[in-house]
Amino acid sequence: MKEKCVGCGAIIQTEDISKKGYIDPLVYEKKKEDFYCKRCFLLRNYNSNIEYEFDSKEYLENLESIKENNGLIVHVVDIFDLNGTLLTNINKLFNTKNIIFAFNKVDLYMNSININRINHYLRVLLKDLNIKYIDLALISSFKANDIQNLIDLIAKYKGNKNVYFVGMTNVGKSSIINKIIKNMVNEENIITVSNTMNTTTDNIYIPYDKKTYLVDTPGIINKKHLMYYLDKESLETITPKKFIKPKTFQLFPKQTLFIQGFARIDFVNGERSSFVTNFNNDLLIHRTKLENADDFYEKHVDDILKIPNTQERIRLGNIKVLTFNFDLEDKIDLVISGLGFISIYGEGKIEIKTFKNVDITKRKAII
Ligand code: GDP
Repeated sequence: MKEKCVGCGAIIQTEDISKKGYIDPLVYEKKKEDFYCKRCFLLRNYNSNIEYEFDSKEYLENLESIKENNGLIVHVVDIFDLNGTLLTNINKLFNTKNIIFAFNKVDLYMNSININRINHYLRVLLKDLNIKYIDLALISSFKANDIQNLIDLIAKYKGNKNVYFVGMTNVGKSSIINKIIKNMVNEENIITVSNTMNTTTDNIYIPYDKKTYLVDTPGIINKKHLMYYLDKESLETITPKKFIKPKTFQLFPKQTLFIQGFARIDFVNGERSSFVTNFNNDLLIHRTKLENADDFYEKHVDDILKIPNTQERIRLGNIKVLTFNFDLEDKIDLVISGLGFISIYGEGKIEIKTFKNVDITKRKAII
């Protein structure tokens, strides 16, 4: 069989349901063309998901072949999750003269922040990381104008090369390509869009002109990313769909903030400080006294806090403790990879209790 799934590009097969491209033999017999593999079919029709393996050797070989083709690379990054989705080794993977950055999901910031400042922040960040590229764009795949700007940018640099979209899973690659196609040929949702892992399982070639293609490449899964450990329902709850309303907490020492059940921030000592949380609006942020925090967690881990659930907590691993200091010289963000961030301004020391597989880092404040 050489047919490919219209949704994800995987080669259609009828033997192994746990592998990509699976389709029921009876369906295969009946259908003959325009196949959707079982996974894409379920995703499109019931929004449900089946798990299968991801072969990283295959993925690396794919990157190698993209490199050989020397096409234009559009590295799509989730602007709300820079730590989790920016490929800092991108210059090792591809020719530096051919890389465009598309920082997606900028709509999540829209109301709370000046876009020029983020643009500046990103340029400085890339410079600090010594990452070379030819151009960058801040976009939302939901905004037609932004997509048009990206199309113009691609047209400016592509010459007679293919255009490869690369990035982590869930950054919005398929959404962007769908919108580009829509803009070009007015056909919607050809590639399956979802927020589960590995929606895009193989390269998908979409004709751009007579000689070249837009290529959707498989998403890379970051094992540091929360997405790797959560069920679909939890993932829905933590993934922001519209702009994020920052919430401000003025905390005194000996107070605690729970970030749903993912992390607990104990303000150990210092001066009254401001903690501004930037997470999906539905995520629960609960303030309590430090002395009551243990009790609260024990009593309410499964009802008020609820996420992560018991199974997810097992996958996330043992509890670890991280310590951070902050002072009035520098406003900092604490980034919880895959979840969001907390901007802290003030003076003091915090202790964070979280799971082994939750990645929390400190950066210079973005806003
Ligand atoms: P891919 O795995 O990189 O191909 O990502 P998808 O295109 O499947 O998108 C993953 C999730 O991000 C979906 O829930 C999309 O609706 C969402 N998404 C994609 N683009 C945007 C965007 O510009 N803004 C926001 N807020 N969400 C987006």
